[in-house]
This record gives sequence, structure tokens and C-alpha cells, in this order.
Amino acid sequence: MTIIAHQRCIDPDCAAEFGVDRVLTACPGCGAMLDVVYDWDRAWPKADRSFEVFERRGSTFGARNPAGADSTDAALDFSGVWRFRELLPFWMHAPNGATDIVTVGEGRTNLQRADALASELGMDTTAGGRVYLQYEGYNPSGSFKDNGMTAAFTHARMVDAKRVACASTGNTSASLALYASMTGIPAYVFVGEGKIAFGKLSQALDYGARTLQVAGDFDACLARVREIADTRPDVGVYLMNSVNPFRLEGQKTIMLRILEGLNWNVPDWIVVPGGNLGNSSAFGKAFSELRELGLIDRVPRLAIINAAGARTLDRVVNGLGVTWNGGRYDKAKVAGEFERMDREGERAKTVASAIEINRPVNLPKALRAIEVMNGVVRVADDETIVEHKALVGRFGFGCEPASGASVAGVRLLRAEGLIKPTDTVACVLTGHQLKDPDVTVGYHRGERTGPNVHANAPIPVADDLDAIVRAMLA
Ligand SMILES: *Cc1c(COP(=O)(O)O)cnc(C)c1O
Ligand SMILES: [Zn+2]
Repeated sequence: MTIIAHQRCIDPDCAAEFGVDRVLTACPGCGAMLDVVYDWDRAWPKADRSFEVFERRGSTFGARNPAGADSTDAALDFSGVWRFRELLPFWMHAPNGATDIVTVGEGRTNLQRADALASELGMDTTAGGRVYLQYEGYNPSGSFKDNGMTAAFTHARMVDAKRVACASTGNTSASLALYASMTGIPAYVFVGEGKIAFGKLSQALDYGARTLQVAGDFDACLARVREIADTRPDVGVYLMNSVNPFRLEGQKTIMLRILEGLNWNVPDWIVVPGGNLGNSSAFGKAFSELRELGLIDRVPRLAIINAAGARTLDRVVNGLGVTWNGGRYDKAKVAGEFERMDREGERAKTVASAIEINRPVNLPKALRAIEVMNGVVRVADDETIVEHKALVGRFGFGCEPASGASVAGVRLLRAEGLIKPTDTVACVLTGHQLKDPDVTVGYHRGERTGPNVHANAPIPVADDLDAIVRAMLA
């Protein structure tokens, strides 16, 4: 069969290529990250290219639930990832083509217009300013991670992986464990000791993944699981963290669903929390490919929001002035920043546990995304993150703390004047509200420091009619 997909080293001075049948966590030659790249003219001929095909599938996708593990056309159209299968066509190299795709109906998410929230953030809704919430909490495991896992599991099945593993702040393990239980591939998740929200831990346990609570933080867990994937062929694990380039292929479709929700109009801004920077990287790749394919003529700007206690990207970009520079970015400056953190014993610390990461593995690809999307990086402290998480609860669908960072970022960029009051802004809400109820209840009970503007504490009341009515109407 004609080769339409490759893995390729992102370093332009190497650019080595490898088949999609290889299991790699980095370029074997130079150690840089890998991309999945396509021969688009073969994969999706020019004459067939348009949003039309997605539009047709999208208009019917809610109507039927094919309810099965077989990847029939109906099951693929039902998936919010595989409805866009022309844009991640590595599956064409699977032994049985599309029928080997692993899907559990992921990516059926909402783009919710949130005018009350927009006004609160300083947008002028009467003059057309819009804030949309891309609610990834609707995924089967409750976070955007399912978009990536469906693609990575499809690849894992293509290469006949015997075991799958990841390090996780919680949601990656929940998602991996779900897909592993659906496919029957044994799963191993490494979580930092005491670092995981209970909603997420409960999922990994429930889905039956072997869960190792490593005495260390996320960065330590990831280093270990990579070490095992790279140096212990006897264990034979397939790595499911976002260094896996196939995962990012699935995460590109979050951008497609935003475009679809906007009738294929490109918004002015995409705002996303930055942890390991897989999303940011995937979004940049999505838009650069859509432009290359001739499907869009304009690319939105990207805002990546770090937590103040996990701000490596902010330091590298805004502090040290590092840019992608055609792939020849200043590696010494980045390494220097990592050495400084080691020397000073600096560990990531934030209430937004999903982005509590100081060594973001996708940093080079995120630099590239910033170039493609004329992006900016900003920081929000924990109080601000939690306050904006509460705002999303009040005016949107609710989200977990990390997702609140993107909404906090809108307020910040609006105040700076970078986001204009009449812009169209899409915030990615990465995870479901119920993932981390401890933070939510703590906030509403006034147990956290900060202004607690939207705190809504439960009211104790005697079992007495008059007392209850008084409490209702107070
Ligand atoms: C994983 C995760 C993030 C971080 O995403 P990256 O792609 O690693 O930057 C943010 N929010 C939630 C809820 C997550 O699960
Ligand atoms: Zn290389």
C-alpha cells in the first residue's frame, strides 16, 4: 500500500523519518520529539477536501448511537474525533483500515456560548463580543484526554502493544484505564503520592488499571515510566503520555469541533490551560495543517495559561525570550531553566493539579504552536484560578480547577487590551466539574484563602418548619 503517514523528528537539522509501525517515544537519532506527518495529496486528495463531509456527518451524529465496539462507519461518525478521520489518517495503515479504530464515542462535546460570563470578563456582548466554552468534560472519562487516547489506542492496536502505561496527574490515567478496559490491554498508571484528585483516582481503580503510587511528583513519575518504556523491553510497555505523537493527532479534533460550532468560522482566540502542553501543541498542528490543506485562510491566536506555581513555559517564553525560530530554538536556555529548578529544588505547586507540572514534555512543540498561532503565555495564581472556576460553575457547565485557568486568562488578556471587547474567544474547559469536588466544596465553604466572591455555602438549619422557611427566604 502507498505510504501516506510517517513519524518525523521535529528538529529541522535531523528531520529523520520512521514508519508508523514503529513504537518510539523520541527520535532515536537525536532525541527530539516526533510528529505524525502525512502525504496529504495521497491521504485526502484536493478535489475531496472541504468541511462539507464533516458537516454532513455532524448533522446526523446525534441521531444514532451505534452502541458497539466495532468501528463501523456509524460508530466513527458518532465519535467527535473520528468524524474528522480525514485529518488524522494514520489509521489507514492499520491492518484492517478503519475497522481497527478504537472508539468509545469520545469527543461528543459542546461549544457553549456564555454571554453572562463574557460580560463578567469584560467583553461587549451587545457589540458581538463572544466567549464560548468548549466543554470537554462531556467525554466518557470526563476530560479532553479521551480525544488523545482513542488515537493512541488505535496506534497501540496497530503495533499490537502488550501493555500500556502512563504517568498522570489523574486524568490521563482515568482515560487510559477506560480505553484499556474496553480493549483488554493490561494498563499501568503511575501517580504521584498524594497528588491526585479522588474523582480521577477512583476512575483508574474502578476501570481496573494497576495503579502505582510513586513516592514523587508527576515529573518524577513521567521520568520513570519513560525509562521503563525506553530501557526495559522485557516489560514491554507502550507509553501513553503526550510525548506519544499519536495522542496529539486525536487532540487536534477539539479545534475542529470549535470550528464546527462556529459554522466553520475561525475565532479570534483559543485559550487553554498549559500543563504538559500537549493540547497547545496539538492545536498549533491542527491549524497549520488546516491552512496547508486550504480549508482556512486565517489562524486564531493562542493563549496558554500556566498556574503561577507551575510556570515553566511562562519563564521560558516571557522571561528568557525563547522562540521556536524555525525549530532552532535556544535549547541551552531551556536546559538552564530546568537546571535552575533542580538546583533550587523548585517543585510545581498549584491547586490546579492537572497542570501541576514543571517539566512540560511538549515544550518544543508548544513553542512551535505559539509561532503558528501568534500565541501568548500568561500566568494565573491559585486564588484567581479557583475564582474563575467558580464563575464557570455559576454561568457555564462547571469545570475542574485547571480548566478555570483558561477563563482567568481571558480576563487578564481582556484587561491588557490584547483581547478586544468584540472578539470571539473560545476557552477550552479541559475537565469535568466532578473530578475534584474537594476544591469546589472547600471554596464554597470558605475554607480557601482568597476573596471567594461566588462562595455559596450550605446553610445548617434545624428540622423545624419556621426555621427552614426563614433560612430559605433570608
Ligand atoms: C491534562 C490536563 C490539562 C493539561 O493539558 P496539557 O495538554 O498537558 O497541557 C489541563 N486540564 C485538565 C483537566 C487536564 O486533565
Ligand atoms: Zn532527530
